[in-house]
Amino acid sequence: MTLESSLAQEAALLTQRLCELDRLHHPVWVFDLDNARILWCNESSLQVWQSDSKEELLSREMEADMSVSVSKRLNQYKADFSRDESARFTEFWTMYPNGEPVTVNVVFSSYRLSPDRLCMFCEGVADNATCAETLRRSEALLHTSVHISLYSCAGAPLYRNPASRSAVSCSTSLLQDHFMDKDLVRQLEDPALDEIQAITSVNSVNGVVWHDITARRCRDAVSGEAAWIISEVDVSKLKATEEHAQFLAEHDTLTKLPNRNYVSIYFQQQIDKVLMEGKSGALIFIDLDNFKTVNDSLGHDAGDQLLVEVADRLRSLERSQYSIARLGGDEFLMLIKPIEGEQHLESIMQKIIQVVSVPITLLGREVQVTPSIGVAMFPNTGTQIHELMRHADLAMYKAKETGKNDFAYFSKELGDAAELRMNLVSELRLALKSNQFETYFQPRVDVSSNIVVGAEALVRWNHPTKGLVQPGDFIALCEQSGLISELGKNVFRDAIVAQRDWAAQGHDIRISVNLSPLQFGEEYLVDDLLDILEEHQGNPKKIELEITESVLLGHDQCTIDKLHRLVACGFEIAIDDFGTGYSNLAYLHRYPISCLKIDRSFIGSMDSASPIIELIVSMAKLFDLYVVAEGVETREQLEMLRKLYCQEYQGYLFSKPTDFNSFTALLTRRYSIAA
Ligand code: C2E
Ligand code: MG
Ligand code: MG
Repeated sequence: MTLESSLAQEAALLTQRLCELDRLHHPVWVFDLDNARILWCNESSLQVWQSDSKEELLSREMEADMSVSVSKRLNQYKADFSRDESARFTEFWTMYPNGEPVTVNVVFSSYRLSPDRLCMFCEGVADNATCAETLRRSEALLHTSVHISLYSCAGAPLYRNPASRSAVSCSTSLLQDHFMDKDLVRQLEDPALDEIQAITSVNSVNGVVWHDITARRCRDAVSGEAAWIISEVDVSKLKATEEHAQFLAEHDTLTKLPNRNYVSIYFQQQIDKVLMEGKSGALIFIDLDNFKTVNDSLGHDAGDQLLVEVADRLRSLERSQYSIARLGGDEFLMLIKPIEGEQHLESIMQKIIQVVSVPITLLGREVQVTPSIGVAMFPNTGTQIHELMRHADLAMYKAKETGKNDFAYFSKELGDAAELRMNLVSELRLALKSNQFETYFQPRVDVSSNIVVGAEALVRWNHPTKGLVQPGDFIALCEQSGLISELGKNVFRDAIVAQRDWAAQGHDIRISVNLSPLQFGEEYLVDDLLDILEEHQGNPKKIELEITESVLLGHDQCTIDKLHRLVACGFEIAIDDFGTGYSNLAYLHRYPISCLKIDRSFIGSMDSASPIIELIVSMAKLFDLYVVAEGVETREQLEMLRKLYCQEYQGYLFSKPTDFNSFTALLTRRYSIAA
């Protein structure tokens, strides 16, 4: 049977059933929701629908010029009726039969034609009395995507607009079942509250979703009783984006482990929980030994791959009482909450060492990294996450100092030492600002003639309360804190100025300046030194730069380039404390070096060390280097050096390091003696 003929049959059936309704004064019609057509209508409907005949009206295919929102609403009605066939609604409908708006207040309900055909029975009252404002308002309510609903104070639904009906799984469901947050439900039951705003989870046809809701207390216009008018907007997408953004903010993108932000908030919460239970725990700081070497030699991609692998291995140790995070670089944290005794903790650390140390293949090469681990226990060494992180970090450095691939516990002594160091660093910073450093000079003397041929610039700290502080007490700290760069340049400047002044007085001697290995890490070291040289009109040929063997050992091309540039500018390079490091004479010819300074430990034990000194002197001759002996304190030592053909010496025998004025006096006196 064709659609047309089956519709005609249904229309005939309806005409039979509903013929009495033709007499009604107000319009009544049956709407076919499946085919968007009018199946039956009474005479009065013709006026509303602006039609000449029932035949014409029944033949209209309304789907053709139906707006999306109207078609959505029709679908909604269908869904409403199939859920609850007894449902009845009243709405203002504005129809456009011939393009002209006709507003009808319609009461509509379901009408079952046959077991599988559900239509809509509509009764209308043309409402000319309703003002335009009201019409538009009610239209807006029908079309808006905002869910609007009215509930009695007991929670029973009194009205839902189509958007609201489309979202609830049952149009009669109570307010208490709609909202999942029981606190919110309690607030809605609180007579003292008039307005509530929240972003909350609600039950919907699509499961649990997030709605931004505003609930306002009002009166039901029909019963006059107190009610809640609630507007809701679905913000699930926004919420998901927000959650993703939150995840990104709290996790490391490379390893997907929680990051520092996460640690600050959630590790603290977990620590608090352990403490509330009267238990104790530990924060473990894990740093990879020699990670920088892997990064530098195999590249950053390989370094990243290594970090991901280590993160996975640490994750494999994760249990409910551990949490793992990455702080950045090659630093990881593990929170143990709670610990079941020291043995338990040590077994965890052994496991960390074991899993991290398993070799990993990077770019076809097998690489092994080991961890250095620092442990801070709580509550006995602190209760705040940042304090515990600092403590575990200090303990980790202790582990590194004692030989890497090991663990160390934070102790009070470790904390005190660190605090002392921190205080000293701020004192040093202040000392630099207020010129408390002074450059001293120690003569370098020709062994055969005993004439001063040079000087070494050695820094001193005129401490406001401690008096003169020796470099052994602060150079290492200046290196650790980055202050060495500025300090080193100040000494270099003083050396240039002194050399220039003494040269002007007729003593054109060579001055040597110590350069820290850390200064070679500075990109602009050479440029900075040349700027100072130019500013103070120094003579580079009379300036020698003392470096330690460790500077050469890295075979770092940047360092070698810097050395060559310095030599090209006229500076000479000396190796300081020679003999205490790698001492491989064979590599010396590869670098632009002109002088070796034999460490004073050899001079102090001259009897046993003389063969070594002899060897150094003869090798140096081979490479055309001159040799300076450091720390000469006795005439015997000097005599021995003369026999070994060592060219220069430096030591207390001749003079301790002295300030500029004393050295000037010494220069004049010695020269006048020599002359
Ligand atoms: P260094 O460069 O090897 O300097 C020689 C050190 O030996 C000086 O110690 C000097 O006072 C000491 N000395 C010289 N003759 C004798 C002697 O006969 N007997 C004994 N026992 N010692 C002698 P000082 O001035 O305490 O400096 C220690 C170290 O601090 C220096 O060793 C150097 O490595 C470092 N230093 C000093 N000034 C600077 C600086 O301006 N920059 C850098 N980077 N390091 C510096
Ligand atoms: Mg030196
Ligand atoms: Mg030395």
